[in-house]
Amino acid sequence: MARAQVDPAELAAGVRERNRAAISRAITLVESSKPEHRALARDLLAKLDRHDSVRVGISGVPGVGKSTFIESLGTHLTAQGHRVGVLAVDPSSVRTGGSVLGDKTRMARLAVDPEAFVRPSPAAGTLGGVARATAQAMAVLEAAAYDVVLVETVGVGQSEVTVAGMVDTFLFLTLARTGDQLQGIKKGILEIADVIAVNKADDVGGADREGEARSAARELSGALRLVHGKGEWAPTVVTCSGLTGAGVDEVWQRVLDHRHHLSADGLARKRAEQQLEFTWALVRDELDQRLRRSANVARVRQEVRAAVLSGELAAPAAADRILAAYDERPDPHVTRSQ
Ligand code: GDP
Repeated sequence: MARAQVDPAELAAGVRERNRAAISRAITLVESSKPEHRALARDLLAKLDRHDSVRVGISGVPGVGKSTFIESLGTHLTAQGHRVGVLAVDPSSVRTGGSVLGDKTRMARLAVDPEAFVRPSPAAGTLGGVARATAQAMAVLEAAAYDVVLVETVGVGQSEVTVAGMVDTFLFLTLARTGDQLQGIKKGILEIADVIAVNKADDVGGADREGEARSAARELSGALRLVHGKGEWAPTVVTCSGLTGAGVDEVWQRVLDHRHHLSADGLARKRAEQQLEFTWALVRDELDQRLRRSANVARVRQEVRAAVLSGELAAPAAADRILAAYDERPDPHVTRSQ
């Protein structure tokens, strides 16, 4: 995106008019980590209308059926008159530059639905950077009057916590597991999930997994009561099939029940706290970028690397050396790297 081509006021107007090309370009701009784009992105974000959507995070291991479920839920919602945006936070893009989520072809019907906007996951970056991009892409979608935003993430590591910090309700998809298999579900997930759905409760593929899914749901419900205290929202567990669409409306109803439980005040408080957390995430992300760009750090990097690898320098001392270099005043004779 060449600088001269980006006019934040024009983009903001395009987003307000729900122009898909403008929405897409606006998201590309807010996803960019180039410093000159960041300034334009801030300008754009300040010009956007603020609408509140129903923000829902959807997580689960690869293969649990997330994209099939989102396709089903998304088309169900657009048929009811909603406008649905889909974003993805993909931790694999952080590590490998590759992507397993958000691929448009995975949601073929929804991707061509005029009332839906499916955005592939952002390009490689730090998790903090991807979170920044996603939160701001959400603001773009809300300004374009998408009243439901679904944020998909793969059930691995930190990305779920990141997504839970950006949405009103966190939905966890799982498969029928009972007894010991329940241990396989990370405890952390049970703490952040607001709604849990045991997916693939159908007889597609021969086996009738409905009964199995029901008993797994019952068992999971019991386990959850132990995790959550009295008076707190205890996540309900339901069964569904993203493929046949059975129970998908029930899952959505539970999402709405959770919002109702939060109440308008509770939701406002939750969002305010998320903004505070997001503020610090932005600071950490910016510091990370500065560290990467620092010419002073670049100067000591090789030397520190060699010293640590040879065992000459211990990690804490090495970290001190890097931080001392970072804190030094910029040397005017050294050109900044990148
Ligand atoms: P994701 O990796 O979590 O996004 O999972 P996908 O939606 O790509 O689905 C993975 C596989 O499971 C595909 O072969 C789907 O056809 C299948 N699948 C997804 N949802 C269901 C479901 O509700 N029932 C059954 N029987 N299969 C499903």
